[in-house]
Amino acid sequence: MIFGNYINGDWITSGDTFENRNPANTAEVVGSFVKGSPADIGAAASAASAALPAWSATSGPARGNILFKAADILDRNFESVAAEMTREEGKTLPEAKGEVRRSINILRYFAGEGSRMPGMLVPSERDRVHMFALRKPIGVVGLVTPWNFPSAIPAWKLAPALICGNTVVLKPASAAPLSSWRIVEALHQAGIPKGVVNFVAGSGGTLGNALVNAPHLKGISFTGSCEIGNWLHGEASKRRLRIQLEMGGKNPTIVLADADFNSAVENVVNAAFFSTGQKCTATSRAIVEDAIYDKFVAAVVERTKKLKVGDGMQAGIDIGPCVDEAQMNTVLRYVEIGRKECGDPLCGGRRLSDGALANGYFVEPTVFAGVEEKHTIAQEEIFGPVLAIMRARDFEDAMRIANAIPFGLSSSIQTTNLSRTFEYIYRAEAGLLTVNLPSAGVEYQLPFGGTKDSSFGPKEQGQSAMEFYSDYKTVYLKY
Ligand code: NAP
Repeated sequence: MIFGNYINGDWITSGDTFENRNPANTAEVVGSFVKGSPADIGAAASAASAALPAWSATSGPARGNILFKAADILDRNFESVAAEMTREEGKTLPEAKGEVRRSINILRYFAGEGSRMPGMLVPSERDRVHMFALRKPIGVVGLVTPWNFPSAIPAWKLAPALICGNTVVLKPASAAPLSSWRIVEALHQAGIPKGVVNFVAGSGGTLGNALVNAPHLKGISFTGSCEIGNWLHGEASKRRLRIQLEMGGKNPTIVLADADFNSAVENVVNAAFFSTGQKCTATSRAIVEDAIYDKFVAAVVERTKKLKVGDGMQAGIDIGPCVDEAQMNTVLRYVEIGRKECGDPLCGGRRLSDGALANGYFVEPTVFAGVEEKHTIAQEEIFGPVLAIMRARDFEDAMRIANAIPFGLSSSIQTTNLSRTFEYIYRAEAGLLTVNLPSAGVEYQLPFGGTKDSSFGPKEQGQSAMEFYSDYKTVYLKY
């Protein structure tokens, strides 16, 4: 099937296409997508601009009703949308179901915000002056999303943007555009007015410049690599666009000797390998206190060897493929770098291509131990199923190692010591912290995002998303 772009309420199905293939079995084409052009981006931004006055004047509850309807449509198609995600991105079916459920919840959460839209009302110093600030949309917003959460990330940008009265142009990742296409389809079926939402698929390298320079654009929300995010920031700054960037990480989990040992092992293995390590919040460095280091390494290796790698559509599979060949090659390249710098991994390290795995991009979950701060795999984001275990003398040493990187997305500690927990919470240099949980696994009701080189601008999700996608108009009224 050909999945068209959605511009000004029309599905554009003509033009060159690119294929979206199943990374677990590349013989399977999940869909063909129309390759958008810079002219399509221009048309989409113009349509969004034309739709802005009416959409921003629509009441918040009425905007919310459309999001509620779109959530219901996704809910009705829940099983098939989740299966499509597994086929296009590779994550296991239970993980895909979890993500689609999250997208539905996000749509409903922000739909409810349409009936609140909190402004500010405060008493004036002056007699008979009524003063307040109300929210207004920022205008036409560009949304650029990655492939690893192909539904939830578009949902957590689209829903707050729309509920605040903005109109949007969405550019999904080329490796997994179908899951976000389904959200746009649901919004269309829910009756979103033409031009309010626009969807243009195609290479970011071709479309990015057109998007960031579209005359009508007022803001851009990007999730993806630091390289592209930093470039976008430079371009956006020239035009003083409002911008929000969520980018890479090199997330630590500190494991202290007083931790609940078994749950610490489970949490690290879960955070390092589930979703094939392709979560921006995945643990890629386990920093383990000396007293339990050897025992912890042995337990992680034993648990990792039991993980089942395969097609995520099959029951019992823990780890799916890398999203595409380039990502798999990146992972294998870092494994080779790790081998040279720190010795052979204690498990994993190879591509799996026997039998049913022959047509997919499968890599064994890989554990390196004895990794030091100077090693490349302790410094650079790999974005795959590779865990570096590092030894720390004590809590202070672990904190130092955890913070001594340019990234600051997520971070975790495993401990039963309350004082250490609070020391960690105040001193960890990351935007998302977990205690006695995997470093990955967030909810939508609180701010989401990192610090340092991982992020820039207001946080996503929760009430912070409302701050990014709206502006205040402050009114002083004498009566
Ligand atoms: P990416 O290569 O930066 O791509 C992200 C998006 O940007 C895609 O839609 C891509 O389009 C587009 N793009 C590429 N070149 C562009 C350009 N010149 N102008 C505008 N857009 C352009 O990242 P990715 O490989 O999809 O995702 C992996 C990265 O995302 C990792 O670094 C990960 O940590 C990060 N990530 C961060 C978070 C977070 O919340 N912090 C969440 C998820 C992922 P194409 O697909 O067509 O190239």
